[in-house]
Amino acid sequence: MKNLKQYEVWFVTGSQHLYGEETLKQVDADSKMIATYLDQSDRIPCKVVFKPVVKTPDEISTICTQANTTSQCVGLVTWMHTFSPAKMWIAGLSLLRKPFVHLHTQFNRDIPWDTIDMDFMNLNQSAHGGREFGFICSRMRKNRKVIVGHWQDEDVSKELDIWMRAACAWHDWQGMKVARFGDNMREVAVTEGDKVEAQKQFGYSVNGYGVGDLTDVIENVSDKQMDSMVKQYQDTYKVDLSKEQLDAVRESARIEAGMRTFLEAGDFKAFTTCFEDLHGLVQLPGLPVQRLMEDGYGFGAEGDWKTAALVRAMKVMATGLKGGTSFMEDYTYHLDPAGMRVLGAHMLEVCPSIASGKPALEVHPLGIGGKADPARLVFNVPEGDGINVSVMDMGNRFRMLANPCRVVAPKAALPKLPVARVVWEPMPNLKTAAAAWILGGGAHHTGFSMALTVRHMVDFAEMAGIEILLIDEHTNIADFKRDIRINEVYYMLSNGLK
Ligand code: MN
Repeated sequence: MKNLKQYEVWFVTGSQHLYGEETLKQVDADSKMIATYLDQSDRIPCKVVFKPVVKTPDEISTICTQANTTSQCVGLVTWMHTFSPAKMWIAGLSLLRKPFVHLHTQFNRDIPWDTIDMDFMNLNQSAHGGREFGFICSRMRKNRKVIVGHWQDEDVSKELDIWMRAACAWHDWQGMKVARFGDNMREVAVTEGDKVEAQKQFGYSVNGYGVGDLTDVIENVSDKQMDSMVKQYQDTYKVDLSKEQLDAVRESARIEAGMRTFLEAGDFKAFTTCFEDLHGLVQLPGLPVQRLMEDGYGFGAEGDWKTAALVRAMKVMATGLKGGTSFMEDYTYHLDPAGMRVLGAHMLEVCPSIASGKPALEVHPLGIGGKADPARLVFNVPEGDGINVSVMDMGNRFRMLANPCRVVAPKAALPKLPVARVVWEPMPNLKTAAAAWILGGGAHHTGFSMALTVRHMVDFAEMAGIEILLIDEHTNIADFKRDIRINEVYYMLSNGLK
């Protein structure tokens, strides 16, 4: 993944001409100091760019228009150092198409109790200036995050970090291309959806390609390319294979090289496969998909383009953080009342970014698909905190579900399980989490991450303007059902409020 420092967040401070030149100079200098502090902080992932203080409707509209058309700008941090009469913001906020966060801070952390005078009061007006700005944002029904606290506080940086990561992922989705090799798994409901509506809402496009288009590229992969890829495998993974199995790995390498060429040539950031549609492919791509995901591609199996796009977004958000991110499926349960758990896996396609230690490269038969034995990486996942996230098309809107979990060690070595797997306890417990997930219509496919928290997903869903339902330590089923019912009404009516 690219470094998020390639992306800019613009620091925009609101004021007005009422206070005279001296005060405005001070406002400008203070704003510059905060922007510089954030830009240089190692807790802030993006470049923070100071913009001269805006004092008129024209200046506000101009900065918003410039933000829209500056490709590396992922969003704005807005701050009201003084009062900035908010009718001045209507035109600009109407134009603004990038996400923004309202930083409700004050330059001086403390009130100087012994020396405070009207000069201090006139300069440090965030307490009421931020409310005036907040009113117009709410009056215009603008989705935004509000962060309260002193700009040097660690928790303020942490919230900004989360929001900026979400803004980078949102930016990455705009114009993103998702390739679908084949179509949906026949008769499956949740992986379907309205691709035109998704493009309107999310900014990414999803287009199908015949598997023949891919196999044409795969057939042109040279033996030399294939051998150098197999050499990489031998250097990277635990490999102990028979001659026949090595031949299967060579075939897998050919598929990987072809898929890479195809995806790079088309500038795709995510893709799907479907085991029902493998015409001309010798194996279901397992190892190739795993390795492409590790390099930052989003992936969804069985034609699941929504999860492919989601996994990509989560990988962008997680750039540089500890812990991996993968396509995932709730596969099977451990229903012992003493500790109920989910075993997550897929037929093959789990990203090695979440592996503990060196994955083993193995070749085993696959019961479905009717193809040759596919190569795959087999591994466990370290203990720690994780999340599962899913996006569904509910017919009149997209819904996101997010559920934190605690990853635990499997109870044994699982010597006969030939796929990568992860065992977790969902929050608040499996009974409540699974019931809520099912009531919310949550998919069996998810984006799984040990780098992100649900707070990243909340900020992201807000930018996307979609519903998000959290299943966490506070969830109980009665409240959850009520929230779903309220949301049904809200999402039916809310467009009329704009
Ligand atoms: Mn699946």
